[in-house]
Formats: sequence, structure tokens, C-alpha cells
Amino acid sequence: MVGEKIKFNGGKWTVPDNPSILFASGDGIGPEVSASAKMITDAAVSKSYAKSKRIEWIDIEIGEAAEKRYGNGITESAKKMLTEYRVLLKGPLTTPVGSGSRSFNVAIRMLLDLYANIRPVRYIKGIESPIKRPENVDMVIFRENTDDIYRGIEWRYDSKEAERLREILKRDFKVDLEADTGIGIKPISRMKTERITRMAMNYAITNRRRSITIMHKGNIMKYTEGAFREWAYGIAKSPEFADRVVIESEMTAGASVEGKILINDRIADNMMQQIITRPESYDVILAPNLDGDYISDEAGALIGNISVLGSANIGDTGGMFEAAHGSVPKYAGMDLANPMGMIKAAELMLTFMGWNDAADRISKAVDRAISDRTVTADIAKYMGVKPMGTKAFTQVIIDNINGVTNATPSSAP
Ligand code: NAD
Repeated sequence: MVGEKIKFNGGKWTVPDNPSILFASGDGIGPEVSASAKMITDAAVSKSYAKSKRIEWIDIEIGEAAEKRYGNGITESAKKMLTEYRVLLKGPLTTPVGSGSRSFNVAIRMLLDLYANIRPVRYIKGIESPIKRPENVDMVIFRENTDDIYRGIEWRYDSKEAERLREILKRDFKVDLEADTGIGIKPISRMKTERITRMAMNYAITNRRRSITIMHKGNIMKYTEGAFREWAYGIAKSPEFADRVVIESEMTAGASVEGKILINDRIADNMMQQIITRPESYDVILAPNLDGDYISDEAGALIGNISVLGSANIGDTGGMFEAAHGSVPKYAGMDLANPMGMIKAAELMLTFMGWNDAADRISKAVDRAISDRTVTADIAKYMGVKPMGTKAFTQVIIDNINGVTNATPSSAP
């Protein structure tokens, strides 16, 4: 059956009953965990809508396999498919450190202008956490995805470009850098800050969240991260949102935030410790790219394991859904990996499509698997139960979706 494209208008999704969605299985454990997520998505959609809705998956090759076969991890034909269909479920991709090809993830985010990386982090009862009251962790991180040092504007210390920039800095700006200094540029723009703030504000309003905290290191990086803070406050205080919010610094003693969203800001390093010591103080977090990257993984650790987190990369005209974790090459092909991150990514995708019933089924099926202690090795070792392989765990989730009641809880090993 041939599917139809998902359409976008003013950031709103119009989803046909048979949407075409791109599927890239990824590197390392990617093929195993993304196949699991795809099967579970199909099972949930079928259970929720019988034959009236169905996803038409289109496979595209991105990453190591494409690099080997075509000498390019993201070919022109893959780019064409991406710009045509614009919605993608994607397994993790390996990125070499220090040298080699640049991140394909970043390339896709830039190509489709997926400017917000949205990562919900909520404790799932039953998973071992390093903190005392993990049940207080319920945050949604909005990380700016297309700006900041991730634009990759940087030069090696011994390049001609770095030498030239050092000369310009010395001659025109009286900035004298050591001759062996590599140079990176950190751009943060007003337009990019404002559009992600708007998205976070709308999300907070629609989902009745309590607060938005602007994360930044503006005391040191005044004209990039400091500006991010100023511009974000500017949007919150604008007529578009002013009657929906209370700004913390403008609150008189005793002023009520009842029915409104509290807007505050915190300096990044302080925040990195506070989300551990008092996670209940944080709800929606709005951050520039690098801060957002760090805090996303830290928040993931609070609930015990980043392998259980999914994330959405969203723009006004597209979305890419992926696990928060990487490609874990050491477990590739061993039927050991936890597919929950990819499953949660698929759940997020269904939510953005407005297929909430199917998304809800996946969420409940995963919660049930954890409360039944039917889990993969990374979680089983803390629960003291027998681990399940990736495939067996996938079947457990499908059985939970279909209401099969005989999923056997694992016993101690
Ligand atoms: P990683 O997330 O791949 O692995 C870190 C550790 O977490 C692993 O050693 C493993 O013990 C555990 N882990 C993570 N996910 C797991 C799962 N699903 N099941 C079981 N255990 C799991 O991080 P890394 O080692 O820093 O990165 C490996 C590669 O992945 C790098 O090339 C990196 O660039 C890439 N990466 C890709 C993405 C992406 O595609 N979005 C994100 C992060 C890292």
C-alpha cells in the first residue's frame, strides 16, 4: 500500500490515515532496537485503530552502512527523501570523536531545521535510581538544536584559518591568543532563541506545566547565553504570552502563580547540581544547545538509565524521533540492548501525529513490563531478576499491548 505524506502548516501537523514515515535503523545496536520500536508501533496502531490507520514505513540508509556502501553516510538521495517526507524514526548513529565525518544527526537536524530537541524525563516506577526520591523527577527539556557550537564552526590549532583568525583578533581587537590555539565559534541568534522559546511556551500551556526555567551561562558568555536569557524572557513577557505567565523576579511576596506558568532562569552550573538535590523545582527546562545536551543526559541519569529515554527533534515542518542513547557498539548484534529508548521515541512520534490512543497503549505496556520486572539486562541487574533479550522484551511489550495476560514475571537469576 502506498502512503501519503504528512503535511505541515504553521507548525501544525496534518496526518493522513496512511502516513509515509521514513525509517533509518542506525548503527551498532540500532538495527535491533529500531526494529523493536517499529514492530511495537505497528502493534499499538493496529490495536488502537484496527485497519483504519496504518503507517507505511520507507527504509532509508544513513550512517556507517551507507558510508561503507556509497562512501557517504548521508547520500544526496537520502537527503532528497528526508526533505520530501520530513518525518523520521531513526536508530542511533555512530559519530567518530576528534576526526572523521561530522555527526549525521546534526546534519539531519540542520537539513530539516529541527530546531527543538524535546526530551521528557519522568521516573518510571520500579527502575533503580541513584537519587532518594526519583518520583519527583518529571521534567521536559527543550534544547535548542541548530545553533551554538554545534554548528561546527571551528578550526584546528595548526590550520591556516586558525592562524588567520588569531592574526585578525590580535590586529583588530587586541586579543592575543597563544600560537597553538584552536578556535571554535559560538553563534546564538535572536530568531533561533525566540522560536524555541515560543515552542516551549506553547507546550507548557497545552500540557498544563508548572514552570519554565531558562538555563544559561550568561554571567560568563554574556552576548550568547546571556542574550539567550534576555530574548527568552522577551518572548515570555510579550503580549502573546504575558497573561499566561508570572516572572519570578517580578513576583511580589505572596503573589499567586495559580493557573499561570512560572518563568525563571538559573545559571547552568548551579542547575546541574540542583536537578539532583531538588528535582521537584524543575519542570520545563529551556536551554541553548550545549547546556541542553549536558542537562538532558544528567536528567536521564536521575531516573536510573538513559537507555529508557526517547527524544523528539521538532521544527515547523518536520520531526525526527530517536532514542536518547548512542549506538553502544559493544552490544551490537548480541540481543542484549534495551529497546526502551527507541520505543519511547516511537511513542513521542505517535503523540506528535495526534495518534494518542496508540501512544498511550505503548506507555502503559512499558510501565507494565517494568512493574512485572520483565526487563533487559541493563535494568535486570539492579532489580535482581533474570534479564530478557531485546527480542523477548519486544514480545512482552507487544503482548502487553494486546492485553495478553500471561507475561511471566522474571524470577531472580
Ligand atoms: P552510548 O549511549 O552509545 O553508550 C553509553 C553506555 O550506556 C553504554 O556503554 C551502555 O553501557 C549503556 N547503554 C546505552 N544505551 C543502552 C541500551 N539501549 N541498552 C543497553 N545499554 C545501553 O554512548 P557513547 O558510548 O558515548 O556513544 C557511542 C556512539 O554513539 C558514539 O559514536 C556517539 O557519537 C553515538 N551517539 C549517537 C547518538 C544519536 O544517534 N543520537 C546519541 C549519542 C551518542
